[in-house]
Amino acid sequence: MTIEIADVQALEAQYVLQTYRRSPVTFVRGDGVRLYDADGREYLDLLSGIGVASLGHAHPALAKAIAEQARTLIHTSNLFFHPLQGQLAERLAKLSGLSRAFFCNSGTEAVEACLKFARRYWYTRGEPRSEFIALDDSFHGRTFGSLSVTSDEHYRTPFEPLLPRVRFVPRNDSGALLTAVSNGTAAIIAEPIQGEGGVHLLTSEFAGAIMEACRRTGALLIADEVQSGLGRTGVPFHSNALGLTPHLMSLGKALGGGVPIGAALIGDDVARTISFGDHGSTYGGNLLACRAALCVLDELTGGLIAQIGRLGRLIEQRLSVMAASHEIVKEVRGAGLIWGIELKRDATPVVPAALSKGVVVNRTAGTVVRLLPPLVITPADLEEGLSRLDAALSAVEAEGEKR
Ligand code: PLP
Repeated sequence: MTIEIADVQALEAQYVLQTYRRSPVTFVRGDGVRLYDADGREYLDLLSGIGVASLGHAHPALAKAIAEQARTLIHTSNLFFHPLQGQLAERLAKLSGLSRAFFCNSGTEAVEACLKFARRYWYTRGEPRSEFIALDDSFHGRTFGSLSVTSDEHYRTPFEPLLPRVRFVPRNDSGALLTAVSNGTAAIIAEPIQGEGGVHLLTSEFAGAIMEACRRTGALLIADEVQSGLGRTGVPFHSNALGLTPHLMSLGKALGGGVPIGAALIGDDVARTISFGDHGSTYGGNLLACRAALCVLDELTGGLIAQIGRLGRLIEQRLSVMAASHEIVKEVRGAGLIWGIELKRDATPVVPAALSKGVVVNRTAGTVVRLLPPLVITPADLEEGLSRLDAALSAVEAEGEKR
């Protein structure tokens, strides 16, 4: 079947709610770190569907697991036991140190669950605390609870009023955090690396202040690992690398390798306060999603995570050279396989320029080009992808000079 991009665009323009500004490319096939468009053109994927396709595309073991499960049983609802949810919860507990899992379908749902469980904890203790503390430049999702702890006014304003009693403090400002936290704080929520906000890392000093704030007031810590977790930085969860010991953790994106699944991981103290009926989801953790996630975890813990450190050093070296050779680059920052290239100007033109050179990246926070390559990328493909990106930056610079 030949696919005409003009037909695809016309149909979407007429029938799909216009909430996404899409790049004019229709990917129809993937293979490892490569994507192919409707014209058969090849691209190196340095974004993995925004950090989802950690195993790359059409991964043989994942494809086999999903196909087998689809032929056997896809969904039965949470009214019944099923053979995979407990197995997945056990694997996540062993990886994270958090004893229980609640399964849902996306990152924002995982955050919603964490916020609700934090409130439930304080309610059960007879001390109903409602305040949440979040960070400037945070992104936790688009549903009402998650949006309430997301700082960007552009996302928030049209939907106000949001949850009351949310306070934002500047990232890495320990003093501001310790001043803001109080005995009314239900939880502090933080991304160990802020992804959408422009790839900003938390310092270990600030992580220490978060732990101190929790100790002083009893506030819970929710680590939002939707983007930074599951091997992306060379460890299972980046919060642990920072010395954070969260009471709750939200996961999504890479967990199902592309099959939608999210999870809230919950420590014992909070888990004990949750009762039947407190939360739920029709699809959450169904057989297909759990099967995919088990396969992803097999791959991650079977050697994939161990090689991220080496790839991270390579990307860092290569990006530092790129930063020095392009006048428009202000700074590069990241860890493992999550990196941001901050420009001195709007980064929007880099995306089409990169596509025309055959590499997929995205722009976030206005001025930042974000890289989230599949964790299976080889050093040679990473080099090749970054060379294409280098050429795209040169093209954008040349275009800027012409104007
Ligand atoms: N939390 C973080 C840290 C994220 O990066 C995202 C998405 O980018 C979300 C939550 C929301 O996830 P989803 O888009 O799956 O709802």
